[in-house]
Amino acid sequence: MAAPFGGGSREGFMITVTEGKNCEVCGKNEAVVVCNGCGLALCGECRVFDIWASGCGHGLTRVFCRKCDADPKINFWKSSE
Ligand SMILES: [Zn+2]
Ligand SMILES: [Zn+2]
Repeated sequence: MAAPFGGGSREGFMITVTEGKNCEVCGKNEAVVVCNGCGLALCGECRVFDIWASGCGHGLTRVFCRKCDADPKINFWKSSE
């Protein structure tokens, strides 16, 4: 039985897993997820996690690049606060 998120492995990462791609933001590191805003592949340094409160007691986890995280048209939950 495989451990769900243990061991530091990228296998089974909870959002979109990229394989064999470099980060499309910095280009330095291997990408691990895809931005939920613009779809660019992101490495662990360039991704930004955000929890969007849904209003009924739980949140949705989103991953953005820094640009989308700061863009109120994309990350509109953040700007509404
Ligand atoms: Zn990067
Ligand atoms: Zn983005």
